[in-house]
Amino acid sequence: MAKKTDKKLSGWDFSPSPEGTSHIALKDKYDLFIDGKWVKPSSGKYFDSINPSNEEKISSVAHANQADVDKAVKAARKAYNGAWGKMSGKERGKYIYRIARMMQEKARELAVIETLDGGKPIRESRDIDIPLACNHFFYYAGWADKLDYAFPNRKVESLGVAGQIIPWNFPLLMAAWKIAPALAAGNTVVLKPAESTSLTALKLAEIIEESGLPAGVVNIVTGFGDTGAAIVNHPDVDKVAFTGSTDVGKIIQKAISGTDKKATLELGGKSANIILEDAPIDQAVEGIVNGIFFNQGHVCCAGSRLFVQESVAEVVINKLKQRLDSLYVGNPLDKNTDIGAINSKEQLQTIKKYIKIGQEEGAEMYQSPCSIPTKGYFCPPTLFTNVAQSSVIVQEEIFGPVLTIQTFRTVDEVIQKANNTPFGLAAGVWTDKGSRIFNLTTKLRAGVVWANTYNKFDPTSPFGGYKESGFGREGGLHGLEAYVKLS
Ligand code: ADP
Repeated sequence: MAKKTDKKLSGWDFSPSPEGTSHIALKDKYDLFIDGKWVKPSSGKYFDSINPSNEEKISSVAHANQADVDKAVKAARKAYNGAWGKMSGKERGKYIYRIARMMQEKARELAVIETLDGGKPIRESRDIDIPLACNHFFYYAGWADKLDYAFPNRKVESLGVAGQIIPWNFPLLMAAWKIAPALAAGNTVVLKPAESTSLTALKLAEIIEESGLPAGVVNIVTGFGDTGAAIVNHPDVDKVAFTGSTDVGKIIQKAISGTDKKATLELGGKSANIILEDAPIDQAVEGIVNGIFFNQGHVCCAGSRLFVQESVAEVVINKLKQRLDSLYVGNPLDKNTDIGAINSKEQLQTIKKYIKIGQEEGAEMYQSPCSIPTKGYFCPPTLFTNVAQSSVIVQEEIFGPVLTIQTFRTVDEVIQKANNTPFGLAAGVWTDKGSRIFNLTTKLRAGVVWANTYNKFDPTSPFGGYKESGFGREGGLHGLEAYVKLS
């Protein structure tokens, strides 16, 4: 029996329990999905999609250039002016429901491909990413014929062609966040997945093809930043929806300034998770672990800065260390795995760079003594104590399983510290008192504030940031509003 850690954990050890891969169908090579057909990239170029847990190639993916993007935008415009634009909301809703049901039927396959391509634990993709992605399609399907109720006493019009660019941390879920509300509101779409995680978006394209959705309503173009830039700069794109880094978000905002393109940008974060002394400590510790470690810290709203009230700091830090020691880092396909592979070699290098900076800044580091696979991109869960508010690792987004811990004495002090970053995506508050929750949630400058829980999502709730975390909301009615013109 292979052991996954050096330590026997509380007298328990688990047998490996890998999810099977025999039920998945992946092609060796993927073309672009444009105008309802699979077309070769005009440059003839393809790039490799790599499994980050073993560095093996999974498939080749087409690299779309400006000419391909132009083809996709033209197809989207034709569909908008044609069949899709003329279709009733009720009929649009039926297609969206059909896509949701087909995704549900293929949920197991989608979960395994998400894990193979992106490195996240199968437990996450199976229980969170894929069900939530399906639920977004179900939720927005319900709105398609009720736009007049969604925005009463307003004239509701669709925008036209939406150009959508998504990152690698929640590949299928981000595609669902973008495509479902756009279609419900009557728009057509050109979507580009991230270069390291294109496969589930391409599987979604197969589902869309099978669903009979009119050609050109959804086009999936794969590629790198240049492909994304071609979408953003295309003159016939009416709306840009982007999720990714703050740096690229700023480039996009500059690129579209002076045009009448609508935009929503969901960017980086450095979210604070705050434990007050009256909090249920064990529950809070589990919430902290869920907030930063379970998805390798690959969550824009990850609770990467922990603030603990001084009187309970020692007990919380000790419990966190104990819990860290029991986390399994390894094969993402294993159902016992808590922390899978870092998404790419580049991202692992970035995380390691920040860990080094933390040590050089004089912070105290604790890493779980787990063994990590020798092949693939892995990083043990890491805590830093003795950090200053001005530390680089406290201020900058690391996007890895790295948590900084600071203490505080008063609520006013923690509000100031928590708000003292350029970001404002999310926050968490752990306390027994409802009044304290209300006090903190009104003063924290963050788009989402969770109370006594963390990283919980629902298609009906809006999500988005303040400050450099971007603007616009996705999810719920707010997410629908981002795809309509109201007058
Ligand atoms: P991350 O740091 O999370 O990889 P990025 O912002 O680099 O985030 O990437 C998010 C998405 O934006 C990816 O699909 C990427 O290919 C795309 N992208 C990168 N550069 C640009 C750009 N200049 N214009 C448009 N899209 C881009």
